[in-house]
Amino acid sequence: MYFKFPLLLLIIAAGLVGIIIFKDHLDDRVSAANKAEPVKIPSAEIPEISEDISATHLAALQSISSSDLRRHVVFLADDSLQGRDTGSRGARIAALYISSQFDKFGLRPVGENGSYYQPVYLSEKKISADSEFKIEIDGEMVPLKYKDDFLVVTPPNQSGVEVTHNLIFTAFGIQASEYEYDDFKNLDVKGRATIYVIGEPPSEDEKYFKGSKASQFLNDSTKRRTAKENGAAVAIGVVLPELFEQISWGGIQNFYARSKISLKNDVSTAGEDFVAIILHPDAGELLFAGAERSFSDIKKTASEGTIQSFEMNKKIQMKLIVEHKQIEDSNVAGFLEGSDPVLKSEVIVFTAHYDHVGIGTPVKGDSIYNGAADNASGTSGLMELAEAFSLLPQRPKRSMLFLAVTAEEKGLLGSEFYVQNPIFPLAKTMANFNLDMLGIGDTSGVVVYGIERSTLGDMMTRAVKEVGLEIIPDELPEQRIFYRSDHFSFVKRGIPSIMPGFGIRREWFANFNKFYHQPSDDANLSYFNFGYMKKHVQAIFLAGLWIADAEKPPSWTPGDEFENAREAKKK
Ligand SMILES: [Zn+2]
Repeated sequence: MYFKFPLLLLIIAAGLVGIIIFKDHLDDRVSAANKAEPVKIPSAEIPEISEDISATHLAALQSISSSDLRRHVVFLADDSLQGRDTGSRGARIAALYISSQFDKFGLRPVGENGSYYQPVYLSEKKISADSEFKIEIDGEMVPLKYKDDFLVVTPPNQSGVEVTHNLIFTAFGIQASEYEYDDFKNLDVKGRATIYVIGEPPSEDEKYFKGSKASQFLNDSTKRRTAKENGAAVAIGVVLPELFEQISWGGIQNFYARSKISLKNDVSTAGEDFVAIILHPDAGELLFAGAERSFSDIKKTASEGTIQSFEMNKKIQMKLIVEHKQIEDSNVAGFLEGSDPVLKSEVIVFTAHYDHVGIGTPVKGDSIYNGAADNASGTSGLMELAEAFSLLPQRPKRSMLFLAVTAEEKGLLGSEFYVQNPIFPLAKTMANFNLDMLGIGDTSGVVVYGIERSTLGDMMTRAVKEVGLEIIPDELPEQRIFYRSDHFSFVKRGIPSIMPGFGIRREWFANFNKFYHQPSDDANLSYFNFGYMKKHVQAIFLAGLWIADAEKPPSWTPGDEFENAREAKKK
């Protein structure tokens, strides 16, 4: 899963680019969340339930067992798989294990060339430490140090960029017509490097830049877009020291200095080759040395809201060296054809990401980030679902695709690749269930992300009760989890999707942060409860079965923001 740490609250999750500062306090959001109205779940049509289960479906349901779930987790999270990083040998072994299970259950291989593998083509870009960035001071070009002084937000698509640009200071770099605010007024930034400081006009007035809360104009990616739209060649953001109250420079470095992996031919990011740079405040001092206004003046006027754009009358020189690497990995796809001559053309997709983050900084001598909860657990659940459905005496009416996806940790890339290259037409893809992190947290229930958004919510609610669990409301709405795992790739295409997640309560979040994306997330994680995981997966089995057999496919709640996404994508 793709969670935000409290420490990183200021980093926006929608992609790997962009810094945002939340001016409001967590406490406000906590109390707002606690006051939230209970969600309304639209009702769905369900075939007869309980009697059905006890009779024909019992053997299938009971094949989902805690011992099997545990066994899969132990294998996938073993040290020998070295954290299943995208493109690694460990990930390859994990994919082989999953495909051999699919084979054992009799699923049809629907990957490439009669195999279970759908190749996923990725490219990795990393800024070389030999990259240069120089600032003109008194006619001399003074070099900055990569990582210590400057970071590259968006590595260019070419293998190298060597440019010289005249600088222009654009204050906060904001154009907001609704507030009659324009840092670009009467400026010609075409072909030049724009400098802006991170922040937005301070305000106590709710109606002006949302007062003490963050407005969208604070978002760094908005500022880069604004610079680009005004014709700038490069956008350079300068960090003000006050940002360090929320995140260290090391934290920012971790975010931007790592390699960036994307889909090789990503249609959704084509043309995003605008270069953007982030500067440390110390580099800010150098940048303004000898300019019309000093950096202290900039800092002061930024905090007072009187900051103004001006001509810098100096240059920067940049030589960015980009190391490119091609990576090939795979989604693993097994198919179970439906039994109804007509409805079998419709497909229900079950997803779980099997990748994790690999080997990293050692913690207590352990450098293998095993990813047991994240997401050997969901992958294990996916395999148990595949087995259970394959054991049904009568196949469900609709078809089912079991899809173990890769590169989720790199930004939901495996699932995004799938929806860009679907094995079955998206128009006939009726629902997605995503399994990401199971068997931990409050064992009395599950948090179902997307519960109010489609008829899947009602199915899932009844299935959860059927297995003796309860629905736990989302106590962490500020984490926006619905937007942050693989089902979201399907959601964006307008396919009703749901993520039945583990029972997380706000007070449990402190435990979560102890192991999330750390070497301690291994099969011995003390929070695992495989009996609870079994019930969770059984509930997904029941909901999946009902949906596959229902007369009508799932539908969005009228008025949901994704209701028309399918139609919009077709155009
Ligand atoms: Zn994760």
